[in-house]
Amino acid sequence: MDNFNNKKSEEIFVEAQKYIPGGVNSPVRAFKSVGLNPIFVERAKGSRLFDVDGNEYIDFICSWGPLILGHSNEEVSKGIEEVLARGTSYGVPTAIEVEMAKLIVESYPSIDMVRMVNSGTEATMSALRVARGYTGRNKIIKFEGCYHGHADSLLVKSGSGTITFGVPTSPGVPEGTVKDTLVCTYNDMDSVRKVFEENPEDIAAVIVEPVGGNMGVVPAEKDFLQGLREITKEFGAVLIFDEVITGFRVAYGGAQEVYGIEPDMTCFGKIIGAGLPVGAYGGKKAIMEMVSPLGPVYQAGTLSGNPLAMYMGLRNLNILKNNPEIYSNLEEKAIKFEKAMNAVIEELDVEVTVIRFKAMLCTFFAKGTFRNFSEVMKCDTEKYAIFFREMLKNGVLFPPAQFEGLFLSAAHTNEDIDKTVEIFKNALKVAFNK
Ligand SMILES: *Cc1c(COP(=O)(O)O)cnc(C)c1O
Repeated sequence: MDNFNNKKSEEIFVEAQKYIPGGVNSPVRAFKSVGLNPIFVERAKGSRLFDVDGNEYIDFICSWGPLILGHSNEEVSKGIEEVLARGTSYGVPTAIEVEMAKLIVESYPSIDMVRMVNSGTEATMSALRVARGYTGRNKIIKFEGCYHGHADSLLVKSGSGTITFGVPTSPGVPEGTVKDTLVCTYNDMDSVRKVFEENPEDIAAVIVEPVGGNMGVVPAEKDFLQGLREITKEFGAVLIFDEVITGFRVAYGGAQEVYGIEPDMTCFGKIIGAGLPVGAYGGKKAIMEMVSPLGPVYQAGTLSGNPLAMYMGLRNLNILKNNPEIYSNLEEKAIKFEKAMNAVIEELDVEVTVIRFKAMLCTFFAKGTFRNFSEVMKCDTEKYAIFFREMLKNGVLFPPAQFEGLFLSAAHTNEDIDKTVEIFKNALKVAFNK
């Protein structure tokens, strides 16, 4: 569309780049991998996002996950003014923190105790420290393509070969910090067993996204998660599910409920804060008793359990808990969306694959299987970029990167989906010259 106007966004971006590295406070927001400059948001409501130039979008980013009930949901924020009026942070405990902890513990049978933090990054970083303190071991296993936030020890890629000692993915991460991070292949138990057998006494924890949500959407196979459960037991390592995306999203009880597999520790973020900065980690009593001040493993936070964040998060979780049909409705919508996109893909005969797990969706620009990071890498990111730009200019905000999932919310209507699919079809035609 030629009448797409983003003049104000472009102006703000020029200013932004003077004062903020790359003009953004988190890299994906720069829209770099789709060859555009970012749009700047003015407001959002339900499934819709409005930018500073007055463009309206059907939003499939939804803050990358926290907004399962849609933007600025009034049921979630109701009463927040009163909380605000009582004060925004105290540095001494509040009752609502206990309510939040109780709700999480009651909702997840694998969790006996939980500690609140301020982001998903803090949750995984802290969980790993506790797992290391608990086992008295140093090494951890993570999987290529799984993202667990930006803590140093997790910013690793695998080097060559199947058993891989970590190589930093970012300057500023010392090799010494990642030397204890072993990288295995997602959905590949052989790669995990090999590493355990070579380091039988040294592995403190295995951390995994039970549904990969940061390399597009790559669900774990049930046998794989079951295998991780068994091998960690066998070798005395802690199994950590990073449910920062999947927690309270794929089901109220998270991926662990869907798969029926209990980890030793779980990390949360995103949905539990309803759009305010929150994270949490919890797990079995014996492990969580290691956390300071009860135990010797130090972990703290000036704003942890912040009353505004607890209030919004708790309201969000209570709505989800009391309205289980939200999950079936979301999944129904996701299935409808999946089917409609697949019909278009078939009709146009283009190399695109829709992956869906519950209400998590993604569109890979390639055909074949998508079981791990290297399989995902076959996608045509240039075609995705053309497609993304066409979607954006016609009022649909897809993830500005091929390797991110789509986020549906309860606020997305059937009409939103129908309209999106129509625009999707035209955008594919442009991307594939059809
Ligand atoms: C988003 C995410 C994180 C990091 O959370 P932040 O709040 O961005 O620090 C960690 N793990 C997973 C699986 C995530 O999706």
